[in-house]
Amino acid sequence: MSSAADPNCIFCKIVEGKIPSRKVFEDDEIIAFHDIHPWAPVHFLMVPKEHISSLAQTGPQHSALLGKMMALVPKLALQEGCRPYPEGGYRVVINTGADGGQEVQHLHAHVIGGPRPWLKG
Ligand code: AMP
Ligand code: ZN
Repeated sequence: MSSAADPNCIFCKIVEGKIPSRKVFEDDEIIAFHDIHPWAPVHFLMVPKEHISSLAQTGPQHSALLGKMMALVPKLALQEGCRPYPEGGYRVVINTGADGGQEVQHLHAHVIGGPRPWLKG
């Protein structure tokens, strides 16, 4: 499903400001905010403002959006405290569907980093 805000979607509510979030970045297409249950010293989510249920619902028409999301990661990761590559770095994860462990059905990329140990991963 790809459409305007889904009234039952928690990330659409965050996009609309109906649920508070600790924002890292926002423009007309993308919002990034801290994960409420961080696994690591740095853990934020990159979220397209458009409601797209998962990576499985994307196609060539989303290339620019997905590219923009990924291209923002290096800058935001350093901004939020990930240490520089190669000693530092981070992990970028897009859980997709039940087998992929996706819990929130609105496309998002986790950006996870900071000194180990981490809670998970
Ligand atoms: P996933 O399993 O990939 O769907 O991950 C969903 C993530 O969203 C989890 O890591 C949750 O901790 C996070 N999450 C759920 N609700 C919120 C919220 N209101 N604000 C920030 N992060 C959230
Ligand atoms: Zn949504």
